[in-house]
Amino acid sequence: MFKQKISITINTTFAREKLFSEFETLMGNLCKTGQIIGNYETPFINDDELIAFQTTLERGSLSRKYFDEYVIQRKRNLEKWCNAKLRTEVVGKTIPAYKGVCKCKKPAFYILFTYALNDSGFIDCGTCKKVVPFYKLKHLNYNDRYEMLGWETNYKACDNLQLRCTVGEKWATRQMSDPKSQLSAQGIKICNRLKELTGIPAYYYLYNYRYLSPEQDKARKCPSCNGKWLLKERLLDFYDFKCDKCNILSSFSPNAK
Ligand SMILES: [Zn+2]
Ligand SMILES: [Zn+2]
Repeated sequence: MFKQKISITINTTFAREKLFSEFETLMGNLCKTGQIIGNYETPFINDDELIAFQTTLERGSLSRKYFDEYVIQRKRNLEKWCNAKLRTEVVGKTIPAYKGVCKCKKPAFYILFTYALNDSGFIDCGTCKKVVPFYKLKHLNYNDRYEMLGWETNYKACDNLQLRCTVGEKWATRQMSDPKSQLSAQGIKICNRLKELTGIPAYYYLYNYRYLSPEQDKARKCPSCNGKWLLKERLLDFYDFKCDKCNILSSFSPNAK
């Protein structure tokens, strides 16, 4: 991932509060297109320059070809009000390297997958396991992206609850493990929509944290259709269960001993 500096010089006497607010809204809009990853960092003013440092998946993530109508409008306003051009510059690369960005021409399938501490994207490629930046999925509209970001926030909230073990642990674990939970229903709907828009199947990952023996875990059937879903070989070094009827994936429980 990359750290990028986004800045614009203020060459006018335009109200600074309004410029700052527009600049900050632009950061929010760039999150909604997926061009900025995670939450944006608060921008700041230094003399006559508005500045923000943000994280992106690729060097070219902030390219105008990924802008939506909201980003275009904010950029246009800022450039007019500041009488200057918006600049972007890669200032560094994050270490250690994260799993990287998918370059496959046509992934075999997508996987909707995240976790509390994930700081990169949440659509993985089923061929190379790397992240698919969602600004590259051209068919997605504003509502699709809004729904996906909403699911991501909900999933991370549940994962945080189950990690902290004090409030709602059981409830949150069920949200992540049960294909019929509200969280899974939202995720599965997104997977169906991804398939409808791209023609590529999208699988939903079900969390598995059960106290049982390896034999009992392996004997479990798909929790959605009750069909066979145990894989002969581990897939992408992580998945042990896959149901092609329900488009869901899962892994052995870490407690299966
Ligand atoms: Zn790939
Ligand atoms: Zn199934």
